[in-house]
Amino acid sequence: MATHLTAELFLDTRATLAESPVWDAAAGRLLWVDIPAGLVHAHVPGGQPRTWPVGTDVGVVRPARDGGLVLGIRGGFARLDEDTGAVTLAAPVDGPPDLRFNDGEVSPDGRFFAGTMSDDQREGAGSLHRLDPDGTVTTVLPGVTVSNGLSWSPDGRTVHYADSPTRRVDAFDYDAGSGTLSGRRTVVTIEPDAGVPDGLCVDDDGGLWVAVNGSGAVRRYAPDGALDVVVELPVAQATSCCFGGPARDLLYISTAREHLDADALDAEPLAGGLFVARVGRTGPPAVPFAG
Ligand code: CA
Repeated sequence: MATHLTAELFLDTRATLAESPVWDAAAGRLLWVDIPAGLVHAHVPGGQPRTWPVGTDVGVVRPARDGGLVLGIRGGFARLDEDTGAVTLAAPVDGPPDLRFNDGEVSPDGRFFAGTMSDDQREGAGSLHRLDPDGTVTTVLPGVTVSNGLSWSPDGRTVHYADSPTRRVDAFDYDAGSGTLSGRRTVVTIEPDAGVPDGLCVDDDGGLWVAVNGSGAVRRYAPDGALDVVVELPVAQATSCCFGGPARDLLYISTAREHLDADALDAEPLAGGLFVARVGRTGPPAVPFAG
């Protein structure tokens, strides 16, 4: 029997599609994006929030080791200079014009993995790509429809991945020497009426936290695959989650406002907000991109 917890509103951001929350431990801040608004946001507890316009859809933000931020945007991998706000397309990724980057994550060895999707979610139009610290881009998984959450196990040897319409979270063996994935197998399947797996993260005990978009919940699956915690939200479109805060004991959850009509917005006035829950676990800080 799963434990049920309730998330509280953290920031009433009313984002169209808030995504890719990440705790940037070096700077002591929470980063996230609003994808169609083309905005990167930073929340510093007790400090001034910051927002950087990207000028196009931005699917994911992660800190980089040499300062600044790395992004997945429409067109490829990009860098954001925090001081000037300049966005530079660092590594274009070929594809149809309606292809954009969606979610991503930095591997324990500092490579930036991020995937794409087409605006109309055409089956197999997207791919999962890897940006290495030397600037090289490699397609690691073609034929993806909606490339979404990615997260590594505490030992770095397993990566979890959701291509949302499959309703599955799959695991791969990860080889840090070469950055390659192998041995794909399914570890979680979301039941048909519950929504789809979106963003996800792994806690320090190896539990897998999956934002289930459509069910208004984030679920924890124990390392043995059992569903053991459900964190409930007052909005249906949960998009991603991460551990953060100075003690990394807060589960931050992003949500979306898109696709809701006036009646739905009346029912879910907090849609698009960021939520937080204390779940009795901690998670690793973000690994900075090593490039
Ligand atoms: Ca997502």
